[in-house]
Amino acid sequence: MIDSYRHKGLRKRLIDSVKAKGIENEDVLSAMLKVPRHLFMAKGFEERAYQDNAFPIAADQTISQPYTVAFQTSLLDIKSGDKVLEVGTGSGYQAAVLLEMGVKLYTIERHQVLFKSSQLLLKKLGYYPYSYYGDGYKGLPTYAPFDKILITAGAPAIPESLLSQLKIGGIMVVPTGPRHTQDMLKVMKISENDYKTENHGKFVFVPMLKGKE
Ligand code: SAH
Repeated sequence: MIDSYRHKGLRKRLIDSVKAKGIENEDVLSAMLKVPRHLFMAKGFEERAYQDNAFPIAADQTISQPYTVAFQTSLLDIKSGDKVLEVGTGSGYQAAVLLEMGVKLYTIERHQVLFKSSQLLLKKLGYYPYSYYGDGYKGLPTYAPFDKILITAGAPAIPESLLSQLKIGGIMVVPTGPRHTQDMLKVMKISENDYKTENHGKFVFVPMLKGKE
């Protein structure tokens, strides 16, 4: 679990490049500067951790591209103390970035192997989300409502079940669309039944699937 000067240097370069691609939120950039992405990579991919790309992790899933992590996190307009629900814990990298920003994080993963490995790794690194193994489509009604909801997989449509778990004034960021490409939607809950939706362009995610494995 080494985070060397070399890793830190490569990470600085990566974050500078993410910034150069248009990410302006300094809170997001400085959180990403602190999280050792190489420790979240699958065996054999550690060397590539500071390239701005998505890479395979266990269970045929991916660790999101750093630019995408920065983009989604910026859209959430995170404030320290926000209660956030993440659907798709995966490697745990995005969770660590959110925790660096001082949120209270609930995160759900449908693959048991990823649920277990991410929970273990996050704990080793001193990050403490509330981690759940289950189907993110159901959300966590017991702990709702949330200030922010982040979906890190591609949903065929906006998951209605999760909108009801969002606070009024809250934001949900969800890549929505068919399997090959999704629109990054920012959904703002204006009142109990009113939403404002912005489309922030095309991205590609692994699919958000029902049930658990
Ligand atoms: N946030 C992750 C990205 C992982 S990719 C990271 O930083 O590494 C998306 C993840 O969403 C995958 O691990 C996939 O298993 C998970 N996923 C897909 N559908 C889901 C669902 N319905 N509930 C919970 N997790 C889901």
